[in-house]
Amino acid sequence: MRVWLKALLLIASVQAIVSLPAAAEVMLDGKLTQGSLVRGQAPAGAKVFFNGQPVKVAKSGQFVIGIGRDAALQHQLTIIASDGSRQQLPLTFSRREYDIQRITGVAQKYVTPPAEVTERIQNDQRKVAAVRTTLSDKMAIFADPLLPAQGRISGVYGSQRIFNGEPRNPHYGLDIAAPVGAPVLAPWDGEVLLAEDLYYSGLTLIIDHGMGVTSTLMHLHRLDVTVGQLIRQGEKVAEVGATGRVTGPHLDWRINWLQERLDPQLLLSEP
Ligand SMILES: [Zn+2]
Repeated sequence: MRVWLKALLLIASVQAIVSLPAAAEVMLDGKLTQGSLVRGQAPAGAKVFFNGQPVKVAKSGQFVIGIGRDAALQHQLTIIASDGSRQQLPLTFSRREYDIQRITGVAQKYVTPPAEVTERIQNDQRKVAAVRTTLSDKMAIFADPLLPAQGRISGVYGSQRIFNGEPRNPHYGLDIAAPVGAPVLAPWDGEVLLAEDLYYSGLTLIIDHGMGVTSTLMHLHRLDVTVGQLIRQGEKVAEVGATGRVTGPHLDWRINWLQERLDPQLLLSEP
């Protein structure tokens, strides 16, 4: 279900439509909760600031914001219309509870990597962070996503990971269990920014969907696309695999808004 909401209200999720007195109309589409990507519509020609930082706005007035897993709950959206009038919209997001996931049987080189791969891991992280600075004019992100693989959901966003008894970083993706070789489809139209083998995430694709939003598809068996390639939503881009830090074959799908790690599941249509 998709409902457009006027943004002046302090509402934790998109469940209502409310009228506002005359002011530049701003609408937000998405749940106001931690880990959420929120798509917005401001008047054409408006400037948008999120917590005082300028946000990329399309000619149409569409924009994207998002907050991370553990982000503060109070945020400020500022809209400056083309006539110079300014609107301050305080946004209150809701706090989420995250699961603890205990995973055993992970190869120890992925729990505590040997010193000789430290440089490789840092290099991987630099490359990933660099491509996630991409801020293109593509508008694919304003469409509904397509689930990139079929299978049981075997891991969710935000869960605290304990590998072989040792606490590690939280999980930031949506895991879909599927056999090696199962097709991986592009969740939206996009352009391939990265297509290579990384230490933790194995064979990895990062795809730009526009406005700073990227998908990362991890642990792949093979890649069907190369860097710079333009792809269509639903196109087969790879095959499910079990490469990198995994205990079995699955697709790990991540969504970023620039460096913010967001929850793909919040964008999928409710049943
Ligand atoms: Zn995962």
